[in-house]
Amino acid sequence: MSEKTPVFTLLRNATVFAPEKLGKRDVLLAGRMIAAVGENLAAPEGYACEIVDLSGCALLPGLIDSHVHLIGGGGEGGYATRTPEIQLSKVTTSGVTTVVGCLGTDGTARHVESLLAKARGLETEGISTYIYSGAYEIPTPTVTGSVRRDIILIDKVIGAGEIAMSDHRSAQPSVQEYRKLVAEARVGGMLSGKAGIVDMHMGDGTDGMKPLFEITANGEIPKTQILPTHVNRNGALFEESLEWARQGGYMDITSGIAPADDSSDCIKPSKAAKRALDAGVKPSQITMSSDGNGSMPIFDAAGNTVGVGVASQSTLLQETRDMILEEGIAAEEAVQFVTSNVAKALKLWPQKGCVAVSSDADLLAVDEKTYELRHVWAKGRRMVADGQPLVKGTFE
Ligand code: ZN
Repeated sequence: MSEKTPVFTLLRNATVFAPEKLGKRDVLLAGRMIAAVGENLAAPEGYACEIVDLSGCALLPGLIDSHVHLIGGGGEGGYATRTPEIQLSKVTTSGVTTVVGCLGTDGTARHVESLLAKARGLETEGISTYIYSGAYEIPTPTVTGSVRRDIILIDKVIGAGEIAMSDHRSAQPSVQEYRKLVAEARVGGMLSGKAGIVDMHMGDGTDGMKPLFEITANGEIPKTQILPTHVNRNGALFEESLEWARQGGYMDITSGIAPADDSSDCIKPSKAAKRALDAGVKPSQITMSSDGNGSMPIFDAAGNTVGVGVASQSTLLQETRDMILEEGIAAEEAVQFVTSNVAKALKLWPQKGCVAVSSDADLLAVDEKTYELRHVWAKGRRMVADGQPLVKGTFE
């Protein structure tokens, strides 16, 4: 397939965002790990070491995308609208080194087992992968018969999702049914040392986040046990998510949701992040995911739906760039939303989501001025060079 992970790689002269701004630093990778971060590091004597000059680049942790339809999604327009499986280079050329796979609307003809197999395949091909057990509906499909058992017994399962709420495509469960599922995931997480988080798909339904506030009202289940996503899909939902986040929950903005025209009620992701900060939401409560590889309607210039396409993960880096360059959010803050905050919410930190000694060598180099993607390393192996995939998936 491709070359092995080098024993040593020395990255020189990058402006490092760890995600906190460290300034000009060198980063030494030893196999899959970061061995040193410092000024004027020397290559280890007597060993082969690839040296890469990153002058003019910002070096960030590889992006962590907590919501990707790895084996495809969609299908709401009939069988011919089911999106295909994702390919490795689509992930890496988006700057993403860690993904959490999920099913979606279709928990009948798509299965958690196939999602697990796909995640294992991508891991073998070079990136880091996890999955959620379940799909939109409750009772939700699992491998072992319960979400709790899946989380405890299957290494890659770190939570449940994506479970649909306030959406015409949900199974219309009661608040008590949602609460039971979240409690099950929580205990599964406790017993296995994982997040046990529930990735909650928020729809356009008028109930909005009301059921979420009810689930957590008696204080037994912490708000951080749930990751409500797509919160920027409409104005009313977004306002509720601000309140949820001010009360200590996470709000997950979907980078793939963008207004088609002025009449659209959804909020551009970079602007949503800015509005959240201005509304007093702590930066630590904001995360962003792509909803990548799901189906996406294609509009013509007049805003009419003319077809269906596949959502790309590249919006994650694009919106990060817009947060920094258009909205004036400090880079070290914006980078958190797609790296360390996600890692903390998913209990993957500090192995993932930071540039630090002993963390995984998952790194993204972008142009310091334009934030265009340049190079990507995943578990110490260079996956992308000068924007082009160096490592390809088995069938690419
Ligand atoms: Zn969704």
